[in-house]
Amino acid sequence: MRRVRAAVTQEPGAPFTVRDVELEEPRPREVLVRMTAAGVCHTDLGIQATWPRLLTPMVFGHEGAGRVEAVGAEVTGVVPGDDVCLTFASCGACPQCAAGHPAYCASARDLNLSGGRGDGSTPLLLDGAPLHGGFFGQSSFATYAVVHERGVVNVPSGLPATVVAPLGCGAQTGAGTVLNRLRPEPGTSLVVLGAGGVGLSALMAAVAAGCDPVVAVDPVASRRDLAVALGAEAALPPGEGVAAALRDLTGGGAHHVVDTTGRAEMLHRAVEALRPRGALAFLGLGGEVTFDMMRLMTKGVRLHGVMEGDSDPARFVPELIGLHRRGLFPVDRLVTTFPFEEIHAAVAAMRDGSAVKPVLTFA
Ligand SMILES: [Zn+2]
Ligand SMILES: [Zn+2]
Repeated sequence: MRRVRAAVTQEPGAPFTVRDVELEEPRPREVLVRMTAAGVCHTDLGIQATWPRLLTPMVFGHEGAGRVEAVGAEVTGVVPGDDVCLTFASCGACPQCAAGHPAYCASARDLNLSGGRGDGSTPLLLDGAPLHGGFFGQSSFATYAVVHERGVVNVPSGLPATVVAPLGCGAQTGAGTVLNRLRPEPGTSLVVLGAGGVGLSALMAAVAAGCDPVVAVDPVASRRDLAVALGAEAALPPGEGVAAALRDLTGGGAHHVVDTTGRAEMLHRAVEALRPRGALAFLGLGGEVTFDMMRLMTKGVRLHGVMEGDSDPARFVPELIGLHRRGLFPVDRLVTTFPFEEIHAAVAAMRDGSAVKPVLTFA
């Protein structure tokens, strides 16, 4: 057992409390990672609010970057001292994993959202009692994490941890939706609804892919400014007239719309903004939305539900790092850093929109 610091959620929706907890040593296929940075993602806050009371106390956090401290006897992919990006867990053996689509792993729920490893165990203890963890296979709101080797991706040493951390979820989710799923032709139009960390990652990927024009929609003026600085031709506030404005800007309707809001009225506007046979990808946390079937049919709308950018992290995280190094994926421009012990400030800045991508740093 190792004494570590972790941001504990005592009950659903309760604030994160940084406390001393205990962490097991890694099992044969697990890796012990010392955290160097951890992004805060809307999913941490959204799921924390509705997390089952049965699975508390709990440690969230799923955008970890760190350095390998120790490895289990059967680990082959990393050695102590390697810098790694932590990402979502998958089994590696089911048909979706075998086909390179681990975001749709048959065991995704057990491995990412069961409050532990998926076999009922958790590597964490709080005051001698089980402390739930394994959030997206990692629970990275902690100074150390024990992670399955499939949940770590080697990254070049020297790359700032604050760049690496968002790649494991938010950046991969936005960019992967464009590059892995929509695969836009250069010169086609792409609209992003919601210019947070995920939306701006989609936007940067669309610009890198040669989409033209790229347009963002967001209620926060500073985010619209950032969208334009990152290559959007225009950035609009949402509202009644936005679909018509988007059709004008895209010469009769967008080829692609990426919705990160999960809001029903925005999804309706997305359909209105598309050109015939356009594609709508949706990846925000949301509930039920009702569409008129005839409207979708006659327009030939193609709908894509996308998890984690439909990424295979072992392949896609290095691809994003390559784009970053060529200046085509400046994810660092989204990041605001906060010391880990000030996680409350990071959460507040994310909620009020003043930070697009808060990243916690570890002394
Ligand atoms: Zn699988
Ligand atoms: Zn996330």
